[in-house]
Amino acid sequence: MDAPYQLIGQFLREHPDVFCVDCLAKAIEASPSQVSMATQRLLAGEAAFAARLDICSRCARRRMVIRAAA
Ligand SMILES: [Zn+2]
Repeated sequence: MDAPYQLIGQFLREHPDVFCVDCLAKAIEASPSQVSMATQRLLAGEAAFAARLDICSRCARRRMVIRAAA
């Protein structure tokens, strides 16, 4: 259980760049709604992750992106 949450955390630590929800969903093969919930949880629970409005490193669209802050 909590696989998307753990996978996203691991993915962001391994890829020190900014990613939007859609690209994270593709990267870990989860649905965007699962990823959206998981990122909310990451942002609320761990200071090691941060979100901001920026250009996604993968799809180059301007939207909310998340990254590992460490
Ligand atoms: Zn993207």
